[in-house]
Amino acid sequence: MTEVAMLINGEAHPSADGRTFSTYEPARGSTLAEVARATTDDVDAAVSAARTALSGAWAKTSPAKRSRMLARLAQLIEGQADALAELESRNNGKPKWQCLAEIRQAVSDLDLFAGAAQHIYGRSFAVNPSVLSYTLREPVGVCAAIIPWNYPLMMATWKLAPALAAGCTLVLKPASATPLTALELGKLALEAGIPAGVFNVVTGPGAEVGEALAGHRWIDKIAFTGETGTGRRIATIAAQGLKRVSLELGGKSPNLVFADADIDAAVLGSLWAIYYSAGQSCEARSRILVEESAHDRFVEAFAGKAAALRIGDPLLDETQVGSMVSRSQAETVLGFVDAAVQDGARLVTGGALDGELGPELDARAYVRPTVLDGVANDSRIGQEEVFGPVVTVTTFTDEAEAVKLANDVRYGLAATIWTGDSARGLRVAARVRAGTVGVNQPFAAFPGVPFGGFKESGYGREMSIDALDLYTEQKAVLVSTSPKPLNPFGM
Ligand code: NAD
Repeated sequence: MTEVAMLINGEAHPSADGRTFSTYEPARGSTLAEVARATTDDVDAAVSAARTALSGAWAKTSPAKRSRMLARLAQLIEGQADALAELESRNNGKPKWQCLAEIRQAVSDLDLFAGAAQHIYGRSFAVNPSVLSYTLREPVGVCAAIIPWNYPLMMATWKLAPALAAGCTLVLKPASATPLTALELGKLALEAGIPAGVFNVVTGPGAEVGEALAGHRWIDKIAFTGETGTGRRIATIAAQGLKRVSLELGGKSPNLVFADADIDAAVLGSLWAIYYSAGQSCEARSRILVEESAHDRFVEAFAGKAAALRIGDPLLDETQVGSMVSRSQAETVLGFVDAAVQDGARLVTGGALDGELGPELDARAYVRPTVLDGVANDSRIGQEEVFGPVVTVTTFTDEAEAVKLANDVRYGLAATIWTGDSARGLRVAARVRAGTVGVNQPFAAFPGVPFGGFKESGYGREMSIDALDLYTEQKAVLVSTSPKPLNPFGM
């Protein structure tokens, strides 16, 4: 059994009291590693290291050098992409080829911010003939990043890249289900030349370690990704210290299919939009809203393809849908499906996968791609985030009703519109209340494109250079250019 330490001040750091927790390989139902369980003293040590580095080594590192280090980190990750993808896949249950795609996205994100690090500019202007003003964008300070289990390495870089580019230092807490690639990222950051203390990783349960980190008096900013309920808790903690905070939270995103769409293309794209990562995606388009006249055609084709997706060993290239992150996540998802059926939804395909996989795989950690038809938008399954491979189908009769249903949830992360009428695509895109809207394509997140939520999906935008705003404070400097003393009292 591998024992894994945290990374604090550039060193492998076991827990102060020697305690550990287990992290698993869900697809096989086995334990993968024992990981240090941080105490509050360990959290304190990590924040202290980040604080020392902020005004020390990192403040002395020029933007050009920070840029080179981030680019070097991107290269190192690229060089180890296969090994990192395998580790991620084993720890998370997601197919390895999907982990590889996410690691490539992490590399692009680091490249983007490596470039941006040298272009963090202020503005200057003459306020009047006697006063010149200029602004500086200074690092916001020591940041806490708290991330979920569904895109472990990628989520870590979404925060690390802009934070370090801006000159901040960071303490990252990965989810306990998937801490391993974040710890590898820490080692690679050191190898890239990033000074000790600039990037630290602490591990352990959210309610203890996450709270101790978020509420630490020397944390200036919290970048959180996770459930909306946890985000609300983080916002409350941040409010106590008036800490800066950005929140990337849950979703219940609509996938609108108009009858004038290319239905074959809509079916293929909609499959990806919900079943990628076994539906454990914040931006999963988990509500199909389909125009009544296209309903039968669409659902028949969609459900047929959903049932044909290949479920299996996440390490095999042919696997399209891996396991859930844990057996308990699979149980939660199946609980939602059962309750929906009792509420009147029609199970078209999907549900539990009992004993249909080989002996080395834990079938209880798997859920088949599931389609629930005849779902009322205001029902529980129509409103709550399931976070599994489950899509609901609801019909609409016209564009106005489609928009109303799309917006009638508390979330607003993503949406996709399938239509053959480009004017309608643009019109509906303008009216849907979501941070990312796709038209006739299913992808929601690209480096360079701002990503984040409306409504209870959170606030703040990551992934584009706008994310630098989250990690910088503006300082205005006002300088006298007057040839004589300014004398506002007329003394
Ligand atoms: P979660 O909220 O349970 O946990 C996220 C992180 O917060 C973990 O590291 C956890 O240990 C920590 N945490 C839990 N309680 C805490 C507390 N009281 N104080 C401080 N930290 C705490 O979420 P999850 O189950 O790991 O991930 C799934 C959720 O994340 C879904 O709701 C999904 O939509 C969301 N998500 C959102 C985005 C986005 O960009 N909007 C991306 C990925 C995932």
